Amino acid sequence: MRTYKKKIFNIMEEVVEDNLNSIIESGKIDFCTCDKCLNDIAAIALNSLRPKYVSTSEGAVIARIEKLKDQLNVDIYEKLVLAIETVKKNPHH
Ligand SMILES: [Zn+2]
Repeated sequence: MRTYKKKIFNIMEEVVEDNLNSIIESGKIDFCTCDKCLNDIAAIALNSLRPKYVSTSEGAVIARIEKLKDQLNVDIYEKLVLAIETVKKNPHH
């Protein structure tokens, strides 16, 4: 019996993770960086962004992310800032 084993990735998850880390590193925005808040922020941002699923091996995914990063960063940055504000106003702790 063949069963389907998921081998697709939403590369937006990687790009969001990456962008969120740069925001934290930049120190430009003051917000709680506990695991709970960061995951809430990532979830809110990802829900407001169109997912980009790719079906490839992991190496190829990384190559695609690198290519897409520059064109996606501005949009993702804006969504992340909005998500940060949302979580800041209403933290789950
Ligand atoms: Zn927190």
